[in-house]
Formats: sequence, C-alpha cells, structure tokens
Amino acid sequence: MTTNMTATSSAISSRPVRTRFAPSPTGYLHLGGARTALFSWAFARHFGGTFVLRIEDTDLERSTPQAVQAILDGMRWLELQPDEGPFYQMQRMDRYREVIADMLAKGTAYHCYCTPAEVEAMRERARAIGAKPRYDGTWRPEPGKTLPPIPDGIRPVVRFRNPQDGATIWNDLVKGPISIDNAELDDLIIARPDGTPTYNFCVVVDDWDMGITHVIRGDDHVNNTPRQINILRALGAELPLYGHVPMILGPDGEKLSKRHGAVSVMEYDRLGYLPQAMLNYLARLGWSHGNDEIFSREQLIEWFDPAHLSRSAAQWDPKKLNWVNAHWLRELPLDDLASRVAPRIRARGGNPEAADLPAVLTLLRDRSETLEDLAEGAMLFCGPYTPADATLRAETLDDAALERLREFHRRAGVLADWNEASLDELIKTMLKEHGVKMPKLAIPLRVAVTGHKHTPSISAVLALLGRATVISRLGTTLAG
Ligand code: GLU
Repeated sequence: MTTNMTATSSAISSRPVRTRFAPSPTGYLHLGGARTALFSWAFARHFGGTFVLRIEDTDLERSTPQAVQAILDGMRWLELQPDEGPFYQMQRMDRYREVIADMLAKGTAYHCYCTPAEVEAMRERARAIGAKPRYDGTWRPEPGKTLPPIPDGIRPVVRFRNPQDGATIWNDLVKGPISIDNAELDDLIIARPDGTPTYNFCVVVDDWDMGITHVIRGDDHVNNTPRQINILRALGAELPLYGHVPMILGPDGEKLSKRHGAVSVMEYDRLGYLPQAMLNYLARLGWSHGNDEIFSREQLIEWFDPAHLSRSAAQWDPKKLNWVNAHWLRELPLDDLASRVAPRIRARGGNPEAADLPAVLTLLRDRSETLEDLAEGAMLFCGPYTPADATLRAETLDDAALERLREFHRRAGVLADWNEASLDELIKTMLKEHGVKMPKLAIPLRVAVTGHKHTPSISAVLALLGRATVISRLGTTLAG
C-alpha cells in the first residue's frame, strides 16, 4: 500500500479546520459514502475542527426524503454527528442566484444564447477535425469583441468565464500534485435557462459560504476540482485543500457493488455488525496507522492524519470485517451486548428472559462473529424446545447410550451443586467408569436435552439450562 507522506505539511491550513460530508440523497448511505463521511469527520475531530453535513438535493428527480432519512440514520448509527447541518441545497437557491447575478455583473460569468442543438453541432465539428469537443466561446465576452445580436425567444444559460491560459494546480492531500490545463476546461454552465444553478456551482458556493477548509471526497470528483477551484478564484474565495480518496473495490477487484453483497450501511446493522466494528473496518479501507487493525473511535480521532490516506484503491474483505466485528463483540460489556441481542432473539420467536442471557453470551461470544450469530446460538436457551426427531434419535440413541443417559439422569438429579464444573466432573467420572470416550456420552446428552447434535461445551450448556429443565427433558427422552 502506498501512502502519501509528502502531503503532511500542506494538510494544515491557516484557518480553523472545517470539513463537510455532502451526499446526494438518491439512495441509502452506501459503504463508500460512509467512508467519506468517516474520513471527513475524523479529520475534523483530529484537528479540533468542525464537521458539516450538507445534503445535495438539487437533483429533484433522483433525490427523495427517504434517502435523506437513510443518510441521517446511517450517520447516527455510526455516530458521525455533524457539528453543523444538515444544510439543504434546495433551501439555498436564493443565495446561488445572488452569486450568479454578482458574477454576471462582474463579468466572471456571461449569458450564452446557444441552443443545446447548436452546442452539439459545435462539438460535432470539433470531433470531425479530431479536436476536443467543446463550446466554441460564441457568447464569451472578450475585450474588443462584438457579440452576436441576442436572438428572440431564447432563454440563455449562464456560463462561467473560465481562464483560458495556464493550468489549475492543487496539491491533493491523497494523490499529491495535480495539474490540469485550463484549455482543457469548457466554460461551464452554472445556471440553466430557467435560472436554476448547476451542480458544480452549488458545491462551490456552499464550500465558500460554509468556510470549508478541507474537501475530502471520492476520486470520482477529481475532474470537478479544477472547475470548482477556478470558480472559487473568480469569487475571490479562499481555496480549500482537496483530498480525493480512491474508491472501494470488491473482493474480485471490480468496483464495489450489490453483486458483492450488502452495500448499504444500515444493512450491516440488520446483519448484526456493531457500529464500532464498522467504523474501525471502514477507516482501514484507505487509511492506516502502522499495522494497527483494531482501534477505538478515540484512537481513530487521535491517529487520523491525512498523510496516511492511501493512493491505491482499497479492497472490501468480508472475512476481515467479520474478524473485526468478532473482536468488538468480545470487547462489549455483557449487559450492553445482551441488550443488542435480546431483540434479535425476540425476532426469532424466542424469549431472552428465559435464560441468564449474559451468561449465555459469555459462552457463545468466542465462537460468534455477529449479533445474529449470537441470537441464533442463544435460541438454544431462549427458544422453544423441539425434541430430536426419530431419525436423529435412531442415529444417536442406541441401547447403550440410553443406558448411560438413564444413569446420568439419576446422578445429575442428586448432584450437590449444579454448575459447569460439577457437571463436567460427573461426565468425566462416568466416562472413566464406562471406559468410553466423550462423544459416547456428550452426543446422546446433547440430542436428549437440546434436540441437536452440535452445541457448545455440553457441561456449560447443561449448567445454563438449569437442573429442572435438564432433568425434565432427559425424563421425556427416556420415556419416549
Ligand atoms: N454530492 C456529491 C456526491 O454525493 C459529493 C460532492 C462533494 O463531495 O463535493 O457524490
């Protein structure tokens, strides 16, 4: 993994740090978006700055209130609380119009009366001679140039008067120096014929008004950056620093998508992942602190420096996520864990109060990767008891096994203390006396008492089920 060490010194601006997450609410909060939010949040927290949430909802066809809610839910779940916002671009239209009017007055923007068909024809002509398809500047004011007469009945767009010479250069916090020739950039349309501002323009005005000092976003926005920088310059705004993080790839090296499984953050909540595990794992996708794989929210804030954002694309690794989640499951205080697992037990038709849930979770958590695994495992103690079916009985309970179960039933009934150690001792004593190995007693016990062949340690399971339950189920099995 390559890291960009050279960016460190330029990462700190002279202004108080202000970062933002600026999602377009067109779906759920996906993993890539969550990671961008996380980086912007961690950056602000690390430098004692401010983290702003801005909802870029100007695409009326694709933006929905449900998607806004999904973003807010995802951020709340990950505990990425913004210090300011959410601000909604649709509520800032007057401001954008005001800035456009100013730019027209100052001559940094101009009206263009070309129809879309005319612009397309210009592009065609350029393509025909092997040139880059672009707007030919018909309406661009120049000293000494006479503009065409304004045609009737055409509502103009507003174009930004992009500099034509030189290059736009920035030292990307992730990618290092990037230089784009201004000649490559068209005079961008900043307002449509109906006066509505366009995407890049709204971003610029917002970043300016909100005093954003560091823009951290996906590298699908690299091409927008020189355009945005030029507009900011024309406005006389102080420039933010930009950091473009590479996208997340699926395990097969393709862009991460639904094909690779869940891509919505809240889906991971449903699947039983802990927010702190998700945060930990997402942070490692494109950022590193030495070889540390496990870190808390506080450590992430303390360690998060943009110098260790990776230039190369990160790869989604479900196995590693599970490993990180399993770690955080073991770290969680038991009562907290129990309160997260209980609703999942109820959702399965079980009763979390039917057992000593913290004790059950102590037994299960070393072998579980998710809250769902734990809930599933806990059903052994909290779910309805279904005796083994005839096939399983025939397979596991021969006469010798039933004989041993009968003896166990008798001896367990009068055991002085009912706990894991005493049950373990009783089982070991019987194995010795009968000269048989563990499975000869443990499997029949499992089948008789739980209805399953596989369970965690049998003495632990029996201890947790309690004497009354074990004796009664054994009695039923032996009678059947
Ligand atoms: N709204 C853009 C998106 O969701 C992000 C814009 C930005 O970060 O500048 O991709």
